[in-house]
Amino acid sequence: MRRSADELNKMRKAGKVVAEMHEATRAAVKPGVTLLQLNEIAAEVIAKRGARSNFLNYHGFPAVICTSPNNMIVHGIPDDTKLREGDIISIDCGAIIEGYHGDAAYTMGVGEISPVAKKLIEITERSMWAGIEQLKAGNRLHEVGRAVQNVAEAAGFSVVREYVGHAIGTAMHEQPQVPNYWPGSGGPTLKTGMVFAIEPMINVGTADTYVLDDGWGVMTQDGELSAHFEHTIAVTDNGPEVFTVL
Ligand code: MG
Ligand code: MG
Repeated sequence: MRRSADELNKMRKAGKVVAEMHEATRAAVKPGVTLLQLNEIAAEVIAKRGARSNFLNYHGFPAVICTSPNNMIVHGIPDDTKLREGDIISIDCGAIIEGYHGDAAYTMGVGEISPVAKKLIEITERSMWAGIEQLKAGNRLHEVGRAVQNVAEAAGFSVVREYVGHAIGTAMHEQPQVPNYWPGSGGPTLKTGMVFAIEPMINVGTADTYVLDDGWGVMTQDGELSAHFEHTIAVTDNGPEVFTVL
């Protein structure tokens, strides 16, 4: 749906809180830090900014961020696992301001990482930006997925199919969904005032996934690395406006 100028302003504010959560957790990622400590750092940002968490209690999720290391794709529950040199870690953050949602994720290395891990992170982020560039009024929504898929597959990586981007506003996950691949048709026509979370999940090996017994952590079937980048973006008369940046 199309958001009013007032609604977009609230989403801009929520986006800034999410960006601040990114900045604070990024600065804390190093060997020895636990995933729960990263969650606490993000929770402090939410509290300091007078925001609310959209992740906490979402279908029973017990934390304010998702932490997904190495072969975990998304939705990891923060626990007392310590990050180690050479790991990669995907961190997904969200916040609500005055009833409006922001949602964004990044993957980074812990200390020195392997060349393939470095390439995966670079390509996943690049694929997200290629998708974001498609968020122009008059364009068709599924051009996002086509652009993401082109970047990922040209690098020899695969696109996760079971988890996708989404519209966002007064709920975190609104319709329509935004596949990260070409689903065979153009989809809805984009209009100024629409807001989406674009979030490619890209694997080094096959695209296949499975879910841990905790019901949350999504893993690569083959145990290979996965990365995840996400921003919340509005379609404006001047092209895409990314809300989840400082
Ligand atoms: Mg997210
Ligand atoms: Mg999302």
